[in-house]
Amino acid sequence: MPTQITDEMPDTWVHTLVTHIEAHGWTIHDAHETAIVINLDHTAHAVLNAGDRPFLVIGWTGDGETEGATHWGLSVDGVTVPHLDGLGGREPSEVADQAHRVLRTGRPEPRQLRHAMPYVALSEACRCPLVHPCGGIVPAPGCAEHGDRRAPAMAWHWEADCHDKAVSR
Ligand SMILES: [Zn+2]
Ligand SMILES: [Zn+2]
Repeated sequence: MPTQITDEMPDTWVHTLVTHIEAHGWTIHDAHETAIVINLDHTAHAVLNAGDRPFLVIGWTGDGETEGATHWGLSVDGVTVPHLDGLGGREPSEVADQAHRVLRTGRPEPRQLRHAMPYVALSEACRCPLVHPCGGIVPAPGCAEHGDRRAPAMAWHWEADCHDKAVSR
């Protein structure tokens, strides 16, 4: 059942948030009292594994009694959002920063993951999550090959730089 973000946001808040999001370099597809719809660029599309969903939607959700909390989700049409995640932040500048992080890293938290590119091919013993688009790994502490105890030499990059690494490979 697709979720509609239908709680209304104040006009001035939407307007200010749009200004902040555009200041980060993003293109707004649509913005009104129930949704702010951002066009994914090529990098954001890859980072978010967005498939056939060209839009990231920001909106408020609530039960009608409590104040809405900011959420984000990917959307095919900019209207329905099958899956919502919490965005966080209340001030437009803060919400815009969170959205920018989601679009660049896939998560609103400021903490970035480091990706590792092992110098030797992964064996079947490897239990590390593969990361895209670089094709590297996020080393799992318990991995027999790349875990804390082994700590083999690997080339590292921050996830924000991941797309550049994928391009230069
Ligand atoms: Zn591993
Ligand atoms: Zn990477």
